Amino acid sequence: MSPADRMPADRLSSVDEHVDRVVAALEPLPPYDHPLLEALGLPVCEEIVSPLDLPGFDNSAMDGYAVHLADVATASEDHPVHLPVVGEMAAGQSRHLALSPGTTVRIMTGAPVPQGADAVVPVEWTDAGLANVRITQAPRPDQHVRHSGDDVRTGDVLLREGTVLGPRQLGLLASVGRGQVVARPRPRVVVMSTGAELREPGAALGHDSIHDANSFMLAAAARAAGAIAYRVGIVSDDPTAFSNALSDQLVRADLVVTSGGVSKGAYDVVKEVLSGLGTVSFGEVAMQPGKPQGFGFVGEDATPILTLPGNPVSAYVSFEVFAVPAIRRMMGRLPYRRPLVRATCEKGFSSAPGREQYVRARFTIDADGSHVEPVGGHGSHLIGDLAEANALVVVAAETSRVQDGELVSVLVLDQEF
Ligand code: AMP
Ligand code: MG
Repeated sequence: MSPADRMPADRLSSVDEHVDRVVAALEPLPPYDHPLLEALGLPVCEEIVSPLDLPGFDNSAMDGYAVHLADVATASEDHPVHLPVVGEMAAGQSRHLALSPGTTVRIMTGAPVPQGADAVVPVEWTDAGLANVRITQAPRPDQHVRHSGDDVRTGDVLLREGTVLGPRQLGLLASVGRGQVVARPRPRVVVMSTGAELREPGAALGHDSIHDANSFMLAAAARAAGAIAYRVGIVSDDPTAFSNALSDQLVRADLVVTSGGVSKGAYDVVKEVLSGLGTVSFGEVAMQPGKPQGFGFVGEDATPILTLPGNPVSAYVSFEVFAVPAIRRMMGRLPYRRPLVRATCEKGFSSAPGREQYVRARFTIDADGSHVEPVGGHGSHLIGDLAEANALVVVAAETSRVQDGELVSVLVLDQEF
């Protein structure tokens, strides 16, 4: 890490500065071929040009009868037209057929329209006859015929590089015959919790122990951001145990995220071990919650590591603010930071100046627009309140009060906009 990338020890970094520092130090992962469904949520890493026309052949949009227009032009309820039915065209089971004037074939949706036919009469305008059919309404020219290439043409650019592959894009790729697509892989994120007081959920608690919440919350958040998450069991505050656990994990990590052990107390194992390496720097970010942060690289392959504070709310907010852009950067996903949305703040609140605040809130959308209301208290240990929130109101460092009804910027959680 060059000196410019290091967190300064003598002043606070701004949130933007720290996000930029992290993102700039990371490279997108090399892309490779993915089977379509594996690529869900990944940005495509090639320009997709259509190798064929869609539809590939003229076909029927309705179940009905393929006709020569001239034969049925006068058809009405009062003066129906009768035609002999000389064949049948079903989707996927039809012969090449040329339609002779004065005849019709039964045709199903998706079946090729026979040569010479210039419209399809829907079955609803007929008596559904099998040998002979009675037609009581005339179609317009080309009605109910889907023409070759009227959706996509050979050579059309279907997806630009960087487009995130969702259900609709995967459907389009399959339609043009692509079973594989080049995308950057999901980053593998190893999540470690440190703390001698931590116990697995389900384990008995002593008077001074707590269940490990962070590794579950952060592994889930990593997965929600598109990563593959590996949760490591609890690591105690012993430097050797932490060093060994970290070394063991590096083979499967594109990014390591730790929680806890980065404050100024004794037994702050993450800081103690990683400070000695010289490749990880620690500092403070002007935000609340989430002030103590660390970032750098560890191991032979210089695996990136983000060290987040231990309080659950601080750990979670730090993850959304710094680890999510890191994951998106490695996936090649733009923008690196999830966009904020604007919403009306229904209940004003005061905000400690000097630090960018991330205020837990409930975000709703109704006919009047987007609204947000703070929930719970300020403490970074309040995980009960955190679970009530579905958004964070982002309040600029210089703002000391948000008024009732003011428009605010909101990071909506668990949603893509
Ligand atoms: P630390 O940053 O290690 O000093 O931890 C700060 C606070 O967060 C302490 O109250 C810890 O007990 C708590 N904490 C640390 N790690 C976790 C975790 N994995 N799950 C729940 N609470 C934690
Ligand atoms: Mg600790």
